Amino acid sequence: MAGIMAASGWRHQDEGLSLGAQFRSRFSNTHLMVAVGILVVALAITVGTSIAARSHFRSLSEDEFEHAVLTAAAAIEKSVSEKLVILQSIQGLFATRDDVTRDQFDSFVMLLARDDSAIQALEWIPRIERDALDAYVRRTQAEGFADFALHPAGERDVYFPVDYVFPMDPNRAAFGFDLASNPERLAALNESRDTGKLVATAPITLVQETGSQAGFLVFAPVYRGGGVPSTVAERRDKLAGFGLAVFRVGDFIDNSVPAPSQEEFNLVVFDTLVSDDTKIHAATDAHRGLLEADALLIQRELDVAGRTWVLCFLVPRGFGLGALSQSAWLLILIAGSLVSLLGFGFSFLLLTGRDRAIALAGRMNESLAASESQRDQMFELSQDLIITADAQGNFVFVSEASRRLLGRDPADMVGKPYLDFVHPEDRASVARAAAQVVEGDELTAFDCRFLRADGEAVWLSWNAHWLPGLVFAVGRDVTERREIERMKDEFVATVSHELRTPVTSIKGFLEMLTDDLDASMGEEQRSYLQAAGRNAERMERLVSDLLDLSSLEAGRLAVEPALFDLRSAVNDVLSALQPDLEERTIDVTIEIPEVPTPQAWGDQRRVEQVLTNLLSNAVKYSQPGARIEVVVASDDEGDDPSMLRVEVRDNGIGIPPEAIEHLFEKFYRVDNSSTRSSTGTGLGLAISKALVELLGGRLWVESELGRGSTFSFTLPRGAADAHGPA
Ligand code: ADP
Repeated sequence: MAGIMAASGWRHQDEGLSLGAQFRSRFSNTHLMVAVGILVVALAITVGTSIAARSHFRSLSEDEFEHAVLTAAAAIEKSVSEKLVILQSIQGLFATRDDVTRDQFDSFVMLLARDDSAIQALEWIPRIERDALDAYVRRTQAEGFADFALHPAGERDVYFPVDYVFPMDPNRAAFGFDLASNPERLAALNESRDTGKLVATAPITLVQETGSQAGFLVFAPVYRGGGVPSTVAERRDKLAGFGLAVFRVGDFIDNSVPAPSQEEFNLVVFDTLVSDDTKIHAATDAHRGLLEADALLIQRELDVAGRTWVLCFLVPRGFGLGALSQSAWLLILIAGSLVSLLGFGFSFLLLTGRDRAIALAGRMNESLAASESQRDQMFELSQDLIITADAQGNFVFVSEASRRLLGRDPADMVGKPYLDFVHPEDRASVARAAAQVVEGDELTAFDCRFLRADGEAVWLSWNAHWLPGLVFAVGRDVTERREIERMKDEFVATVSHELRTPVTSIKGFLEMLTDDLDASMGEEQRSYLQAAGRNAERMERLVSDLLDLSSLEAGRLAVEPALFDLRSAVNDVLSALQPDLEERTIDVTIEIPEVPTPQAWGDQRRVEQVLTNLLSNAVKYSQPGARIEVVVASDDEGDDPSMLRVEVRDNGIGIPPEAIEHLFEKFYRVDNSSTRSSTGTGLGLAISKALVELLGGRLWVESELGRGSTFSFTLPRGAADAHGPA
């Protein structure tokens, strides 16, 4: 029993087939008593049948059904509120600007609702006065829609034509349709205008409907000057138009309720606020389920932009049974013959349900104002700043969050270059990031400072995306995190600075002590002194790493670039490491071109620091007897011939793939027996990477767990060497 959500089984009430209409035509006269009598008999037979059926059917677990219903109802409710949020964004767009173009509308909407099959269309409906109509039609024709005309034709004081439409193709029939021409649409439109709220229409047949689904529209009013004017008279005067979301009920429900749960019940939706009758809004094609003898029914009420829908979930008892026995078949047949009678009963139930729903709707209307203002508040409280900007770097849209984050009115920012609002020191990096956004279709993330109206800086962490013609970005306030990081860095810098002098002096005194007492010392004392010396050295290394790192991060590390010979740098480092290499019987091979010897441009001391770190890691994280290779070559893989590449290869323990992305973070160490047994701080690679980048190169790693690692970095070639074959 697939609960296919299509209105195919049910027709419009105007065509005389809705349940309510059937009910009224049969019950609103003197036959009422007879009908009630028939109903009682029908019910009695049904009860008898179901009692008999019960012995043949394993009864459906009502709990399961209820659970499925609750889940589906919650999903529909969530979907309704999500779609209304999209509509509110469109309302926001038009409220902040009065010159939104068709292309901008398309880009903006595509962003919100691309591939959203629950939405049939999102539209902009301008208000056009009678005397402005000709100019409006000509303007639209000039936009490339040569045969654009309002339909249906007719003389009216004000027109509300469907103007911007997304997506255009499946909704072309609606383009130019004057919503003021139709009473149901006009009623919702006027209510929305006068209340300033989102208002849904009664169920209607869409202009662009090609199947037989019912549809509904939700209007969001936009007033000149933004906001909602306080009096109805002002609202009527300042109305600029409407954002409009168009839905097909069947598609909407299909999209909201996952297909598997639709297998578990039939769903029929009623709109209870239709003035003259309860109207069926959507139904399954298997509407027999609705009238099935002994069906389980759960009703839920749902607010949809001011209307009350009743969702009726139905399932025949016994659903879920495998092969039915012969007698069960018979019983179903008998029950089937009662379908029409039970129809009365069901209608009756629905009618009383309707009364309750209308009473409830009254109460809901009262609380609507409260809940709407709560929702508005939610938007204002939205933490993130959402913006769009054009390719020239001007804001096209700025969300309300700018008031709180930047102390600025969105309207004061729209149309202006965004760089004007960026901290002067960050403008270059923002311009670079923006260029990257425009070039690629990847999400680009970057942090920068924006200036508040009061001159204070606010750190925003951005995620930006390029949509054809438009930058879309969401910025999160990370000022606090940045401040904490700054304080932490400052603390590390201060502490390490304060430690450096005492550690150096402890080390010096220990050396003196060892020298002076060497002859007179016993074995034990010597070993104490040696241990103290080793620890002092370790501490000195840590302090100097920390100092390097904090100066690198603060951009305070001075390098003194000069031309230097890479071969001699490699040799210097290797001879310093000789004792470690010997201790672990590790062999190093060097592959460096003889002529001409590669000359690099950089700070030799710092390059040696990087080499020392990479080589001592290669030693630390390899088994005794392993091999290390150092290769210097032209950086052929990079496109730049003016770069040299240095590789340090080992066949040691390797690095697990998931650790690679963290390897260059400070204090990161892979957790394995080698790191546990070797001393280290997890700072070496972070420093090396930052140093290489400071010198104009880059550093990266390729590694396979258990087979070894290759750390590579590039450096600019020295000028004298720039054209030599390396
Ligand atoms: P550490 O002081 O721990 O060596 P590094 O920043 O130099 O700090 O290295 C970070 C981590 O990267 C090391 O703890 C180790 O787990 C891993 N690592 C570095 N080099 C190698 C290598 N050649 N082979 C395997 N693992 C390595």
